[in-house]
Amino acid sequence: MAEQRIWDAVVVGSGLGGLTCAAYLPAAGMSVLVLEQHDVAGGNAHVFRRRRSYEFDVGVHYLGNYGPGGTLPTILGGVGPAGRVTFRPIDADGFDCIVLPGLTFDVPAGWQRYRDRLVATFPAEAAGIDVFLTVCRAVAGEEPDAELLRIWRHRTLADLFAHCGLSARARTVLAAQSGNYGLAPVDASVLVHARMLGHYLRGAALPEGGGQMLVAGLVEAIEADGGEVRTRCAVRRIDVEDGPATGVTLADGTRIRAGVVVSNADYRRTVVELTDGFSAATVAKAAASRPSAALAVLYVGRPHGTAGETLLGFALVLAFSYAMLWLGVLLGLLMRSIETIESTGSLLLVLFTFVSNALLSTDRMPRWLGVIAEWNPLSVVATACRQLWGNPVAASHSIPAEHPVLISAVMLAGIVAVAVPLAVRAYARAATR
Ligand SMILES: Cc1cc2nc3c(=O)[nH]c(=O)nc-3n(C[C@H](O)[C@H](O)[C@H](O)COP(=O)(O)OP(=O)(O)OC[C@H]3O[C@@H](n4cnc5c(N)ncnc54)[C@H](O)[C@@H]3O)c2cc1C
Repeated sequence: MAEQRIWDAVVVGSGLGGLTCAAYLPAAGMSVLVLEQHDVAGGNAHVFRRRRSYEFDVGVHYLGNYGPGGTLPTILGGVGPAGRVTFRPIDADGFDCIVLPGLTFDVPAGWQRYRDRLVATFPAEAAGIDVFLTVCRAVAGEEPDAELLRIWRHRTLADLFAHCGLSARARTVLAAQSGNYGLAPVDASVLVHARMLGHYLRGAALPEGGGQMLVAGLVEAIEADGGEVRTRCAVRRIDVEDGPATGVTLADGTRIRAGVVVSNADYRRTVVELTDGFSAATVAKAAASRPSAALAVLYVGRPHGTAGETLLGFALVLAFSYAMLWLGVLLGLLMRSIETIESTGSLLLVLFTFVSNALLSTDRMPRWLGVIAEWNPLSVVATACRQLWGNPVAASHSIPAEHPVLISAVMLAGIVAVAVPLAVRAYARAATR
């Protein structure tokens, strides 16, 4: 199966790299299609939500060099969305905090301030720190020095530490931000460290709304120029004919032809798994490459309310189950046959659940039905729990929506007060039958 359209460029993967490339290609007059295997665009920059309350940024926790003329504003400005992404600065006096036994070091923005704080922390190592920072500034391009750049850019950070005669403790503080590139000092080049350092020392910030705002801005730019971003489209092969790439084959077998294929999938996978268009030497080199250190990230959501509010929510859920249990007992005793109990019970369960705000907001129901739904005990308990656990609550001015905890308590107490004696009486009557 092949698509009719021939695209000028297909981009495999919708990470920030792929999207940036795809947003710029139309400027060269090219039609662009982005294919993403995941169900949302953005790769490591996407944001995911849980229980409609918690929002986690996968891989944009802080960005550097965000000021006018900085990397990201310049990239975004070139395709339009710069003004639409607002960067919220992170404390310039300590955008990273390094905690060691007996020492807390807040990393400030600005090379000079960084230097002064390092020297104040390790006064005996001032000379070594100055050499270290002179090299880093040169390699980062902050204070260009061709000779220092030539000597140091491909040597390791461990070599530079040794050259500067720094203590283990100072090295730990200097290398603590290496989590940004995932390499130990013996593996990291001075270039990679200095560039990362220079990037953040220009000031760190977060895009308002999270990394997804960058993604949304780039997708908007691509679509505004007639491009397309398709999710749930895994590319199985990058097709190659007599040298150049001619398109891609998707996991479902669809062939898409293109003049140019850009792969935003990782380097190793692209060269080794996605195509056989590279030379044996290139494939061997890619196959031998080692990924940098893996990160294990635990995303933890904290209930917004206090412990008391959290417990009260659980207590309401238990009280609701207890009250419903008695209603069920009463219903069962009032009916004569199992079949009637089953069919009536199922009907009531459906009505009870669907004419409530548990699944659908009441403002999307006809007004009369919305009023009934708002007074449904299930809705009141659901609203109370949402409020107590800090989840979003639909705006409504009805009494149960404004005082859900109180109304839940009154309703549930009322149901128990009525259902228990009635059920007991019905049981006594049934027992004498
Ligand atoms: C936990 C974590 C924290 C981070 N924190 C920060 C931070 O604070 N600041 C910062 O600047 N950076 C941070 N980063 C790094 C940053 O998120 C990434 O560098 C950036 O998002 C990578 O973009 P990319 O385009 O290179 O690749 P990716 O985001 O990896 O995108 C590649 C895309 O290609 C898709 N793909 C792969 N193969 C196929 C295929 N065969 N078919 C279709 N699609 C395919 C993938 O699904 C993915 O969407 C962090 C990263 C991680 C993982």
